[in-house]
Parts: sequence; structure tokens; C-alpha cells
Amino acid sequence: MPNSRIWAVRNKPSALSLKMAKRDYYEVLGVRRDASEQEIKRAYRRLARKHHPDVNPGDKGAAERFKEINEAYEVLSDPEKRKQYDLYGHAGVGAAGFEGGRPGAGFDFDFSRFSQGGFEGFGDLFDLFGGFGRAQARTAPEKGEDLHYTIDLDFEDAVKGLTTEITLQRHVTCSSCQGTGAAGGRRVTCPECQGSGQRQVSRGFLSMRQPCPRCGGTGQVGAERCRDCGGRGTALKTERIAAKIPPGVDNGSKVRIPGMGEAGRNGGPPGDLYIITRVRPHPFFERKGDNIYCEVPITVTEAALGARIEVPTVDGPAVMVIPPETGSGQVLRLRGKGVPHLKGGGRGDQYVTVKVALPTHLDARSQELLKEFGRLNPYNPRQDLLRGDREEGGR
Ligand SMILES: [Zn+2]
Ligand SMILES: [Zn+2]
Repeated sequence: MPNSRIWAVRNKPSALSLKMAKRDYYEVLGVRRDASEQEIKRAYRRLARKHHPDVNPGDKGAAERFKEINEAYEVLSDPEKRKQYDLYGHAGVGAAGFEGGRPGAGFDFDFSRFSQGGFEGFGDLFDLFGGFGRAQARTAPEKGEDLHYTIDLDFEDAVKGLTTEITLQRHVTCSSCQGTGAAGGRRVTCPECQGSGQRQVSRGFLSMRQPCPRCGGTGQVGAERCRDCGGRGTALKTERIAAKIPPGVDNGSKVRIPGMGEAGRNGGPPGDLYIITRVRPHPFFERKGDNIYCEVPITVTEAALGARIEVPTVDGPAVMVIPPETGSGQVLRLRGKGVPHLKGGGRGDQYVTVKVALPTHLDARSQELLKEFGRLNPYNPRQDLLRGDREEGGR
């Protein structure tokens, strides 16, 4: 069903065609009412070539005739629509496949684009031919693909951010031909398809239209192939770029660098580059969200009497106050010493778990002092525990 998409793609009514009197479709194609499918097809192709708006630049009459030819062919090439047309005339096919049955509805033909020539106009032609649905995608400006690049960062670099050089391989628009693939940007009508942008392919009984492989369906080829890109319009380029990683990225953060993706098509803008960050673990710090966790040993004396000690932070050593009678395992907070928030200002905190480290290799004097300490402080830290046990057992 090579022609079935014509109405789906262009189904807006055209003000221009509403004004026109409707001609008989057989008359338009110049065939008898009992013409075979082959005859209809031949007539259509001959007329389409002759009235092709690009062959008749600036001739609005040609564009109208071309539209009329296509409309007629759309109906007469489809056995079902042709039957409806034979029985009921324009109203028959109008009711079946045209918008609201209004004469001429179903086409939206942008004449201004044809008068410009070039392959932009051909994009519309393909919708009218209906031969392949991707015609629009081929000729309309299209943004290039996004690229993804994974980068491994040290813990501190993720916290503080950095600018790093990365080597990137991507397709860029060929500067010699501005992406046209043609030397000097000069383009001529494709000799393979005479500018129609399509070719007829026969497979057994089936005959169908395909985009012309020579011009990729644009109907035009470069007058001379661009030497620098071999006619592709893009060139593979390896470049070193400076990637700015903001402070606060974590595992799986995405940093967007606009315009550094693959080249766009048909004059479209390039895609973007996304740098995905992966953060190496730190031997001392652990990160959860924007907070940093670590464990710091303190002495018995510092734990008992309190102290001001230095602890490592991502900003370097910072003073932390140990209040008197701090127990082992207690968590102290260093406000604002965590990771900068990626979105919005401010930073997370650092949480320090203190662990009381006992002195080793006690000398005789120290042992004496500790015994003395024990006599002065006859407390039993397991008192509550043991009483609890007895109560449990007694029940
Ligand atoms: Zn071609
Ligand atoms: Zn080039």
C-alpha cells in the first residue's frame, strides 16, 4: 500500500484547492476509465515528472497541476478507492478517505517552499508520493544524537568539582561543505531519479517505490563530492575538550555539555554531550547523599575530660570539640563540612563517630593510677543490665 499514507500525513484542508473546480481523476491523468493499473501508474509518472514543481521553478500552475495529479493517482491507484470513485464520484472517495468529504480536502500544499527549490521542498513531495514515511525525517532539520561519556572521579574531586580534559570522538558537520556533502555546497538534480527522489523496485508481482539510494531521497546530489568528507557531510573528529564538573556530583550524576554531541542532520543543531560521573570510594570518608561519615579515635582522657581535637575533613583538618564524658560510639556533627548540594547552595554535614582507644603497654605507674581511679570511682556500668536479667528470669 505505497500510497496509503498520503492522507494521514497531509490531512489539513487547503484553502486554495477549495476554490478550484474538481476535475475528473481519469481526465487529470489522461487515461481511459478502463485503464489498467499499469497504465495509470505510467501516466502518473510521466505527468509527475513533467509538472514537478522543481522542474518548473516559480510556476504556481505547475505546483497545482502536480497536486492534482497526485490526488488523482492516490485514488485511482487504490482499487478500493477507485471503485468508490467510479460509483459515486468525488463524493464517494471524499466520504471514504477525505476529510469531511469536502472537495479538495486532504491536501496541504506549501507552495512557497517549492518555489525556493532545494530539497526542503522535496520533503513535502515525498509525503505526497506517500512512498516512504521517513521522507520527512530525512529532509527536515534534525538535532544530532546525544553522546554519553563516563568519567571516573576521585572522592575529593567529586566533592569539590574540577575541570578535566577528556578525549572525545564525534561526528561534526564538515566545515568544507557545511554538511551538504557537495563541494562548494553546489547541488544539482539527482541523475539517478531525475529529482523525484525515489525509484521503482519490482519484486515479483509487486512494484513499489523506494527512496533513491543515490540522493537518499532528497532528489539532489552534490555537483561534485566534497573531498574532505567524501560526500557524507560529516567528519569524524577526535578532540580534547575541557569538561567542567560542578562540585557535588555523585555516582551516576549527569553533566550536560550543550552542543558537543553528534552533528545534526539537514542543518539541524548538534546533540549534547552527557558526562556521567562515577566516584571512587575513599579509604576514610564514606558518603551518603550530601553527608560525609567517618570514624575518629579519641583517648580515654579526651573522652572523660573533653577536648578540642583535629579531625580530617574534605577541606583539610578541622577542630572538633569533644564534650566531657563523651562515650565511645557517640556521633558528633561538623556542620557544613559535607558535600556541596548540586542544586541550590549550601552543603551537607560531616558526622564523626568517636571510638575510645585504650592505651596499650601500661607501665607500673599507670597501672597504679588506674587502680587508684577505680577505688575513687566504684561504679558498676552493668548494674541496670544485670538487674534487668534477674527481673526477666523471675517472671
Ligand atoms: Zn535520486
Ligand atoms: Zn564535506
